[in-house]
Amino acid sequence: MERVCNFCGNINFRSTYIQYIYRHNGQFLIVDNVPCEECEYCGEQYFKAEVLKKIERDFVDIYSNRKKLKKQIKVPVEEFATL
Ligand SMILES: [Zn+2]
Repeated sequence: MERVCNFCGNINFRSTYIQYIYRHNGQFLIVDNVPCEECEYCGEQYFKAEVLKKIERDFVDIYSNRKKLKKQIKVPVEEFATL
């Protein structure tokens, strides 16, 4: 399978698992252990379409209370001007 990184043109990728932050209309879902292919040179991450679709589905299910949360965290929000 010959692929080229869209950003740096490198052709070497490694399979890894990352934490993915899905954001939609100001709502967030953090998903741990998401499989992806990472460019070995620039670190750009590539996901399979079905992986992203599953995350999208879970996001909708969770925010419409069709799926139970595994864990919820509090995230501080700051305004840059006040840092
Ligand atoms: Zn790259």
